[in-house]
Amino acid sequence: SIMPATLSAISNSARRGVLFKGGVHAENLSHMQAIAFDKTGTLTNGTPEVTDLYVSPGIDKEDVLLHAGAIEKESTHPLAEAITSRSGDLDFSMVDVQNVKTLSGNGIAAVINDETWKIGKAALVGETEANGFLNGIAEKLAAEGKTIVFVKRSKEIIALYALKDTIRKDAKIAIKTLRKHGIHTIMLTGDNETTAKAIAAEAGIDDYIAKCLPEEKVDHIKALRSKFNHVAMVGDGINDAPALATANIGIAMGKGTDAALETADVVLMKNDLPKITNAIQLSERMNRIVK
Ligand code: ADP
Ligand code: MG
Repeated sequence: SIMPATLSAISNSARRGVLFKGGVHAENLSHMQAIAFDKTGTLTNGTPEVTDLYVSPGIDKEDVLLHAGAIEKESTHPLAEAITSRSGDLDFSMVDVQNVKTLSGNGIAAVINDETWKIGKAALVGETEANGFLNGIAEKLAAEGKTIVFVKRSKEIIALYALKDTIRKDAKIAIKTLRKHGIHTIMLTGDNETTAKAIAAEAGIDDYIAKCLPEEKVDHIKALRSKFNHVAMVGDGINDAPALATANIGIAMGKGTDAALETADVVLMKNDLPKITNAIQLSERMNRIVK
């Protein structure tokens, strides 16, 4: 049976936009020692925009915009949508995109006129083959917190896109308050080391894990649990669901995917990150009354 103090705390939080899927989570929340955050869509708004497009010497920019745009049109990834919209009014119907393969956490591949195209992170296109000209630019743009996407046609890296996603305006406040509370904060991202470092600094977060493949998020949460005992995970994506389930408490962004919402123990109804600290305080008060 549920204690009156617990019940009242749950309904109180619900009115304030934090939905607990059970009294036990309302009780446990105050025990969290670390909170891990997914980057895209959780700490950031999840709507990146293309800020830069560089092509290798001798490559036609329009050609890249046409083909990369047509390929990314086949993907629903936020980066893909940004890349496609950067192509503006170009008519993709002229491009025969075949054999599309989504490579989770890495990018996308497709065939056009018997040539294989790969669009994605350095590891996907092959860092060693990447040309020196674009690599130098990539490092500089990544230091600005931009996500780098390479375009490879056959064996040649022909272009790079840089994309910037804005940090949610209340994310910094949320992290600052959690840290004041003595809670360790960590960002998990599939982005490269340099970009992750810049975003982490901008958000004011204690630590980050870069180059994190979607299926590796679970292992990172397990490792954090052995270090911190009580670990919460905040996420929005389908890829986050297993990590949300692995954490002591999974917290989903209200505008997140169904998989995240279903798996989570707590839902932030308005994507409102600072509400996490309110909920922790409520949990602390509630535990004092219950005990
Ligand atoms: P995050 O961890 O930031 O939510 P993902 O795990 O979805 O990001 O993707 C990790 C990286 O893989 C991206 O930063 C990007 O470099 C690359 N990537 C994934 N999907 C695509 C795509 N459709 N087009 C280009 N790059 C992609
Ligand atoms: Mg996300």
